[in-house]
Amino acid sequence: MKAILFYNHGNADVLEYSDFPTPDPGPGQALVRLKAAAMNRLDLWVREGWPGLKLEYPHISGADGAGEVAALGDGVKTWSVGDRVVINSNLSCGACEYCLSGMDNRCVNWGLLGETQRGTYAEYIEVPARNLFPLPEGFDEHTAAAAALVYHTAWHSLISRGNLKPGETVLIIGASGGVNLASLQIAKLAGATVLVVGSRPDKLALAESLGADHLIDRSQEKNWFEAVYQLTEKRGADMVVDNVGTTFPDSFRAAGRGGRILTVGNTGNPRIEIDNRFIFAKHLSLIGSTMGTHSDFKKVMPLVFSGRLQPVLDRAYPLSEARAAQERLATGDQMGKITLAIN
Ligand SMILES: [Zn+2]
Repeated sequence: MKAILFYNHGNADVLEYSDFPTPDPGPGQALVRLKAAAMNRLDLWVREGWPGLKLEYPHISGADGAGEVAALGDGVKTWSVGDRVVINSNLSCGACEYCLSGMDNRCVNWGLLGETQRGTYAEYIEVPARNLFPLPEGFDEHTAAAAALVYHTAWHSLISRGNLKPGETVLIIGASGGVNLASLQIAKLAGATVLVVGSRPDKLALAESLGADHLIDRSQEKNWFEAVYQLTEKRGADMVVDNVGTTFPDSFRAAGRGGRILTVGNTGNPRIEIDNRFIFAKHLSLIGSTMGTHSDFKKVMPLVFSGRLQPVLDRAYPLSEARAAQERLATGDQMGKITLAIN
C-alpha cells in the first residue's frame, strides 16, 4: 500500500510518500481501506517528537480516518467486508479496572492511533474491530474523519467531565483549532451562552458563524478577562475551555464563582505559574482530560451524522501531498480541519 512514512523526527521534510506492507488483520482486528484521514496538531508534535516518545520506525501519523472494512481477523462477527466506518482512535485494553468501569480513556495500557501505533496517513489501517463505528449511507468520509477526534475530545471534556448545563456561560480561549470549534458547537447544542476570545478577525467571524454569542478580540482587549466580566454582568464564566495553557492566569480571573476550567492540552506552553488564591477564593475546579470513552463516541458521532454538529472543513489534499498539508496546519492559517483524500 501507499503511506506517508517517516524514519526520524524533524520538520515536514522527513515525510515520505512511499510503499509499506498492507497490514494483515489479527484476531479481533479489522482492516480498513481508508477514503479520508483528518489531520490534528498532535500529528505535528509526534513528527517533531518529545522526550520519552518512542516510535516504531517507519512511523505513520494520523489518528482520524474513515473508509470501509476490507478484511476481518479471526473472531470478528460484528462487521462485514464493505461496511462503511469511521474510526475511534482511542486504543484501550478492555480489561483493566478503568476499562471495566467505562472509563477506557484512562486505561493503564491506553494508546492512540498515529502515536503509539501506526496511523491513518495510509491506504489501509489495522484497528481493533470494536474501534469502528458505522458511517451512515451517503455520509461524507472527510466530514466523519474531521469530526472524530475533536468532537469526541470536546464532548468528553464539556459534557462527561464538565457536566455542562443549559443556561450556563462558556468561555472558549481561542477562535480556531478543531477542539475549540467543536467545543463551541457542543456548548451551543447544550444550551449554553458562548463567549470566544480570539485574535484574528477571520477566525472570530468563523466562531460567530458557528453560533458564538459574544466575541472578544484579544488584539484589541489586552485584559480580555475584564471584557468577560462586563459581558456576564460581573458574574464571570461558569466554564472556561482553555487549551492554550499560558492563559490559565487570565482564565482564573475570567471564571465566576464555582467556575470550572477545562483543559485537554496546551497550544501555548505546558508550564504556568498559578495563583492559588483564585482557586480557593472563587471555588474553582480544574478539570483535565484526554480524548474520550467508547460511550462518548457513541453519543457524539450520531449528532455529527444528523447535522446537529457540523465540522468545518478547510482543504483536502491528496495523500501524496501530506507534507504540504502539514505545512499548512503548522501555519495556523487554516479555517477548520485539513483532510487527506485516499483511495
Ligand atoms: Zn484498560
